[in-house]
Amino acid sequence: MDLAELLLTSTHGIAFTGAGISTASGIPDFRGPQGLWKKYPQELSSASYLRRDPKGFWEFYAFRLKAMDSVAPNPAHYALAELERMGLIKYVITQNIDGLHQDAGSRNVIELHGTSRRFYCEDCGMNFERKEVLGKVQDGELPPRCRCGGVIRPGVVLFDEPVHLIHEALRIAQESDLVLVVGSSLTVYPANLIPQVVKQNGGVLVIINMEETPLDEFADLVIRERAEEVLPRTVKKIKELVGNG
Ligand code: NAD
Ligand code: ZN
Repeated sequence: MDLAELLLTSTHGIAFTGAGISTASGIPDFRGPQGLWKKYPQELSSASYLRRDPKGFWEFYAFRLKAMDSVAPNPAHYALAELERMGLIKYVITQNIDGLHQDAGSRNVIELHGTSRRFYCEDCGMNFERKEVLGKVQDGELPPRCRCGGVIRPGVVLFDEPVHLIHEALRIAQESDLVLVVGSSLTVYPANLIPQVVKQNGGVLVIINMEETPLDEFADLVIRERAEEVLPRTVKKIKELVGNG
């Protein structure tokens, strides 16, 4: 069966997405050929580094913040949102922090690694919008600080921090009979447990990724093409099948 047929025969499909779904929106992934970690050590995005050297942390983070300032969803995000409206995808569980699934219209989105849209003060917890923080950074305020004097930090899960939403995501995975992996190297633990749980429970595993992943050998279908091409084509095919059926 192809992806369209697999989706139509599932009753509780979910999508599991990674940085690869957003490369067509101009956000580089981490481990692909152009990936960030080919150039910068992960240590720069850790909470311990933020505490030790807030200025150094923000010097690195500032350029990522600017890079994410004017991004828009691409056809892959829109296709997943449409699959949700059709009832074929119940949840999008994402490792991404860019907020593009919501921009594209997806409603049930679990952001495992938090969001780069919100910031908060390390000391008093006050929330800040991205624009405000970007303004401070552009004015040379490194690190940006809260009125209370505390350092402002991004609302993302840093490398040495726990993934709180993993339990909810695993519960959703337990109930799923199909998982569609899109643009993830499937190397980041514990997020990569999600597709494994669906597969172990007898569900269908589909992987759309430009490179090989460690779970390819367990997958029912591996599509090594660009997500922004495969997903819209799949939606079109589903509409044809449903229309004809
Ligand atoms: P990853 O960088 O480890 O892997 C991305 C994969 O996507 C690669 O294997 C690459 O070959 C593939 N890919 C790239 N473009 C593609 C396309 N157009 N179509 C299909 N596949 C494509 O990403 P990951 O598995 O998500 O893990 C990286 C971590 O980095 C995550 O935890 C995430 O939080 C974070 N991150 C997020 C963003 C974002 O929010 N957009 C960007 C970079 C990193
Ligand atoms: Zn504060």
